[in-house]
Amino acid sequence: MGTSSRQSELARYRKHIEYEDRLDAQNYMSYINFIAYLQAFSSVISNPIPISISHLIKTVRSSFEQVPDHRAPNAKISMVDALMSAFAMFSLKDSALVEFDERRKKDKNLRAIYNLKNIPSDTQMRTILDPVYPDYIKPIFKVIFNLLQQNHVLDKFVFMCAYYLVSVDGTGYFSSKKIHCSSCLERKNSKTGEITYHHQMLGAAIVHPDLKEVIPLAPEPIIKQDGETKNDCERNAAKRFFAQLRQDHPYLPIIIIEDGLSSNAPHIKELKKHDLRYILGAKEGDHAFLFDYVETAHQAGQTTDYELTKKKVIHRFRFINQVPLNASNKDVLVNFVEYWEIDGDKTLHFCWVTDFMVSKWNVFEIMRGGRARWKIENETFNTLKNQGYNFEHNYGHGQQNLSVNFALLMMLAFLVDQAQQLASPLFQAVLKKEGSRKRLWDHMRALFFVLEFSSMEDIFRALLYGYKVERVIIFGPT
Ligand SMILES: [Zn+2]
Repeated sequence: MGTSSRQSELARYRKHIEYEDRLDAQNYMSYINFIAYLQAFSSVISNPIPISISHLIKTVRSSFEQVPDHRAPNAKISMVDALMSAFAMFSLKDSALVEFDERRKKDKNLRAIYNLKNIPSDTQMRTILDPVYPDYIKPIFKVIFNLLQQNHVLDKFVFMCAYYLVSVDGTGYFSSKKIHCSSCLERKNSKTGEITYHHQMLGAAIVHPDLKEVIPLAPEPIIKQDGETKNDCERNAAKRFFAQLRQDHPYLPIIIIEDGLSSNAPHIKELKKHDLRYILGAKEGDHAFLFDYVETAHQAGQTTDYELTKKKVIHRFRFINQVPLNASNKDVLVNFVEYWEIDGDKTLHFCWVTDFMVSKWNVFEIMRGGRARWKIENETFNTLKNQGYNFEHNYGHGQQNLSVNFALLMMLAFLVDQAQQLASPLFQAVLKKEGSRKRLWDHMRALFFVLEFSSMEDIFRALLYGYKVERVIIFGPT
């Protein structure tokens, strides 16, 4: 694009921005009044009501009762026992199905704590869960979400006075050259022709810049779709995910936060279609037109530069509203934020595009929201991969849906753990005493394995207050 045509285009947008600025000032006053109203209101309602682990386990079990059974009505092991056993395995962080199978043979706690009647063997569990349609498991995430909402736990996550930040990203959890199922994605080596089978999912969680806990939503599997021969992709999975998100939460004020790959016109149109606000990463390499446009605007004095210092850290912003995302989609206008965090010798640099009209009074919060995106990677995927959940272990692949169902059930176990961390004072006290989740899981598993308890609360109480065991008597030769 020539400089003169860009200048005339800038002049056109400038008029628009002047109008937006006036609108912005009016919005600012309503915003201040709105904050005062919310603060007064939230002081009355926002004390979370504790939720016990027994209540969470009971909720999961009664949700599993809704999953239809594809087998004959006289099946020895019920569907709810099979699902609950897999949930228990992930909740206890067993590293393999065979470990759970060992537990099954000698562990009375499994029956008492997870309310299990007939516990399946490893083979039985795989056989029963393989044909279960993953969409039957997904609604349970909403049931736990509703529980957190009703108990005001969700109030902790309110961002920019009214919204919830939902961080979305894809991740892989299985790859093999031999093992595969009907929902596996396939990747063919162009030179050798060798096929690698893999599974991915689009994960999403409600996050907040000030909280280390997250509330995972039902993930969308990136799998080969029914009747399709081509591989599924993250963009298609995102379409299904946003449609489901709006179906599950039609009125929830949501800001989607994603990385630079998502800041493209079709994706932004999809977000708008579902009434989802956004703060999306932007990279100079992927958005040459946009960055060029902003640079020209900056030279013409049309960007706003703003800086503030907090605890010796300099936060420098440059922003401009209503700029075209790229040359081929000039109808898609975005608001652009460039940010530098300068802490001594260290400088971090980020850019975002957003549909929030950016001004000096909200740019800091927009930056905090944009930066909270990494919580889906760090607090969710990395926790599942490295902090006891064994996300990438193969618990059994199956022929149809087993691999996907196990990934969903593991995410559900993680959600229940996060719910405890947010809403159970007993769990919070034990976690504080143990110092890390990994240590807590190790000690919980040890007690679970050697002593008999009637509830998970009793295990946590034993860890918190200590316990006494009578002298060990060995049944065997000395
Ligand atoms: Zn597969």
